[in-house]
Amino acid sequence: MHSVLPKNKRRQIKKQQPSRSKKKLKLPAFFPDATYGSIHSLPFHEVNGLLPGVVVTTLHFHLLGLVSTLDTVGGFHNFTQFPQEKIVLSDSGGFQVLSLINRKGLGKITEEGALFKDPKTGRKTLLSPELSLQIQHSICSDIRTALDVPLMGNEDNSIITKALEQTTRWAQRSKTAYLASELLTPDEFIATKPKLEENTLSFERPLLNAVVQGGNDLALRKESAQQLSAIGFDLFGFGGWPVDENGKLQTKVLETFVENTPPDSLKYGMGIGTPDDIVTCISLGIKLFDCVLPSRNARHGSLFVTKGSGEKAGKNYDLIRIKNARYQFDSSKLDPACSCPTCKHYSRAYLRFLIKNNNPVGYSLLTLHNIWWYQNFILEISP
Ligand SMILES: [Zn+2]
Repeated sequence: MHSVLPKNKRRQIKKQQPSRSKKKLKLPAFFPDATYGSIHSLPFHEVNGLLPGVVVTTLHFHLLGLVSTLDTVGGFHNFTQFPQEKIVLSDSGGFQVLSLINRKGLGKITEEGALFKDPKTGRKTLLSPELSLQIQHSICSDIRTALDVPLMGNEDNSIITKALEQTTRWAQRSKTAYLASELLTPDEFIATKPKLEENTLSFERPLLNAVVQGGNDLALRKESAQQLSAIGFDLFGFGGWPVDENGKLQTKVLETFVENTPPDSLKYGMGIGTPDDIVTCISLGIKLFDCVLPSRNARHGSLFVTKGSGEKAGKNYDLIRIKNARYQFDSSKLDPACSCPTCKHYSRAYLRFLIKNNNPVGYSLLTLHNIWWYQNFILEISP
């Protein structure tokens, strides 16, 4: 593409582009979500040492007008000083568009892409597979995602089939756009695929993730997994909600996803989940996760704590709902087994007081604990 920037500026940009160095991701790994460019109410420097990576949302960056800034500074790592050796994973934007289309009636899916109206500006945008990959190239993310057609989870099979077929066609276009942006031939893509070992993923170029659809119908899930595997991707994400109406994890659907994607590829449980769901998924061979739970729960005063030290919740964890009156005079730590700064320095009573009064320091401290607790939990259950 022709550049309109003056020559000296172009040289400067080139210099700022991050180098393609070898990266290693220890598995299993859990990435918190950095939706608007940071983890909610928590600066990166507080948790950089702890995190293997973060997930960023492509559509938000586009709608916030951040893409030209990212282009100029050379990507998200440079922009935020998030350590170069850590992984930035970008989603495709499909999930956010679905929410605008289905919940707010602000658009529709067309063959070309997802057409929607920006709820803030009213401007119409077509999020095509090519635009999504172009934004992700500007983010310079380490793991990029092909645009898919997500579902809400209550559709009938004819709608699920239509969505999975559209997802396959968009995945093919996403791969073509990715290869063009990375100046790779299909053969070079295969020759430089990531190396998956027992507990690590090593790679030297940005990776491309395909999102497997098919709802909770085993035959359709298999069909989607096989169609995307035939196109060839670096890793495969489980799209949709693998839970039934009672919130129980659908292990058969997850198994079908794992069995019908290449055995030497990383499997990614997108949006999963509770500590119990993560344990089950790891036993099925899924090793990468992201979820809003730690940060969102923290904002609502719901804290993950070690089994036996809070209110009964799951098989592998308890919860403390810090707003409950029972913590008003509780001078103990949130979680006696946690070594995070929040648990080290503050009592349940104080944290309850902060959150009851909407004190931003309270949100910060509680998010720090939940993010810390999740990383520690993953470490403890790692083989
Ligand atoms: Zn803690």
